Amino acid sequence: MASLLSRSVYQMSSTLTRCTSSRLVHLSAVRSADQVMPDPVEHATGLEKYELLAKQAGNEDPFFLKAVARAKGTKNEPTVINAMDNHRMVGCVCAEEDTNIKWMWLCEGTPKRCECGYWFELKAHPAPDKYALPL
Ligand SMILES: [Zn+2]
Repeated sequence: MASLLSRSVYQMSSTLTRCTSSRLVHLSAVRSADQVMPDPVEHATGLEKYELLAKQAGNEDPFFLKAVARAKGTKNEPTVINAMDNHRMVGCVCAEEDTNIKWMWLCEGTPKRCECGYWFELKAHPAPDKYALPL
């Protein structure tokens, strides 16, 4: 019995060894220094191309998506929130230690005060015309 068991273990181990050793790994890499990836601006269309062209022109945030630090925030000098429409949802982290964001709708022409006392005002910018986007 012991010899049968040891013989089957030996056969299994030799089979595993054969399987792993018989497989070869072929790695090849095509080296062509003259071929480079095309510029993403050439492939992009529509809003993506509009964004890439704006970034090339020096505008890093053409859609006003980056977070804005609160300014003085008084009623006479509110924090200006840029938008591409006449309304926008704004989130205020009222205190640094807060773990939640207080969200509110901001409409053009109506400055709004957050619960923390800071004032916000919306500044509307024209959105890109979707029928005149770069191709
Ligand atoms: Zn607030």
